[in-house]
Amino acid sequence: MSTSCPKCHQSDQVQKVSSIVSDGVYDTSYGTARTELAQKLLINRSDIVWDKFIREHWMTKMVEYRKQFPPPEMGQTAKIALLLLWLSLCLGAVLTFVFSQVSGTIGIICAFSTAGSTLIALISSYNFMKSNQTVEYKEWQKKYDAARLQCEKEAQQIKQKTFHRWDNLYYCHRDDVVFLPNENLSSAPSEMMDLLMWK
Ligand SMILES: [Zn+2]
Repeated sequence: MSTSCPKCHQSDQVQKVSSIVSDGVYDTSYGTARTELAQKLLINRSDIVWDKFIREHWMTKMVEYRKQFPPPEMGQTAKIALLLLWLSLCLGAVLTFVFSQVSGTIGIICAFSTAGSTLIALISSYNFMKSNQTVEYKEWQKKYDAARLQCEKEAQQIKQKTFHRWDNLYYCHRDDVVFLPNENLSSAPSEMMDLLMWK
């Protein structure tokens, strides 16, 4: 059974998008650029765009989540620990820099030992802060992590769906339209990604 176009209801001008694009790619071995049509249909479909898309999807969702469920205030002790953490970071960085300017073995020993003790101070104040976070904060963190996982899962599902649809996407040369015959969906090639991801 041949696939017919939703606009002209004929199949003589219908071609699978993936084969148009791979034909276009093979053109490059003869030194010519991809065909204009292949270029138009291939647009946006690269892993680079996917990584960006997933990051954006993730960030937007999590910003919304934080707005809806803001984290509870830190306890007093945890606040002091956070302050200590910043102080040791700044002081340690400055001292390490100063000692690294001192020439000779003394300078090297001082710089390394300052860097080392800064690291220890950072780790211990971080642990101290963690252990003094309020129960509410820990609960919030747990829910936040769960929401983040859910969001990542969603992005992966959209990705899978899109790639699956891509494999079943057709193009009608007569009407300049892309369509998914199994799902009764169609759009202009410029709205292809919207069709694949969000419809
Ligand atoms: Zn058509």
